[in-house]
Amino acid sequence: MLEPVFLDRDGVINENVPAYVRSVDAWIPIPGSLEAAASLSTAGHPVIVVTNQSGIGRGLVEASVVEEINALMSERIRALGGRLSGVYCCPHRPDEGCSCRKPATGLVDASRRELGLPPGGWLVGDAVSDMELGRRTGLTTILVMTGRGAVQSRLCGPESEPDFRAGDLAEAARLILGARRTACGRTR
Ligand SMILES: [Mg+2]
Ligand SMILES: [Zn+2]
Repeated sequence: MLEPVFLDRDGVINENVPAYVRSVDAWIPIPGSLEAAASLSTAGHPVIVVTNQSGIGRGLVEASVVEEINALMSERIRALGGRLSGVYCCPHRPDEGCSCRKPATGLVDASRRELGLPPGGWLVGDAVSDMELGRRTGLTTILVMTGRGAVQSRLCGPESEPDFRAGDLAEAARLILGARRTACGRTR
């Protein structure tokens, strides 16, 4: 099994909405992102979405709507010949002190356990919290400039400095796929 690739959802796969994606209609894929996710999975990488959705815990978004959006996202990627191995979601508010709200590691830990993923891999996100999560879980991190990325990029500190920056998920996917080719070239 190739290294898993963890993707944040809002701001990476779909346009970020400051006050939460509250309806299926408000879920707008970023151009090229679904194709990029599909390309990673067809190349053999398990692709897992890890997303904070505290709008649920705040009572602003129905959990069923989030599930519906995640199902649509999976279906759209499947239609492109790809596959998501899992979508892991934290529904809690920050004050609930759960162990799954990024940068806590619960979502990555659960997916590794449930899907039997090998250690290591990549994490693509648009926020400092994603980069921190990646650091804590031993993933190579890529900060994209879509969504909140351009603003968040300036807020990265020693605990959250990304390994790479990319314009969008399409560029991040090319980087990941290219890194594998380079690695293979070195070992042969
Ligand atoms: Mg995000
Ligand atoms: Zn949580």
